Amino acid sequence: MTPEAEGFLRRAIELAAAARAGGNPPFGSLLVGPDGTVLAEERNSTITDGNISFHPELKLAVWAARELDAETAAATTMYTSCQPCEMCSGALARSGLGRIVYALSGEQLDGLKSSGSFPAVPQDGPALYDEAKVPVDGYYA
Ligand SMILES: [Zn+2]
Repeated sequence: MTPEAEGFLRRAIELAAAARAGGNPPFGSLLVGPDGTVLAEERNSTITDGNISFHPELKLAVWAARELDAETAAATTMYTSCQPCEMCSGALARSGLGRIVYALSGEQLDGLKSSGSFPAVPQDGPALYDEAKVPVDGYYA
């Protein structure tokens, strides 16, 4: 880890502290572009915005996909106070961002929590393949 990268991680940790001070879970993230400038910053706002998806990593993944061209996104790094959760990892995979650097790992976070992670919702399927494939068939050709 370079001193520059540690500096960006420290900024993410500051954003996490600010999120907590503002009444939200303690997580923060930022995007650093190809030239080393900060493009955007976000904090968790799941409580104050009443939206379970408002993790900083997800908000920045949406921002990057909307605002950055593919080449810039691929050369952009997310610095985040904690390893992205499964929800955010899915969005980040679709964002085109090139790299993620995190401070706390998910495992380290779990060690700091008294409760476990969210239980998975049971899923049933697959079903109705012949009908369900009709709107999809050919879309991804
Ligand atoms: Zn998340």
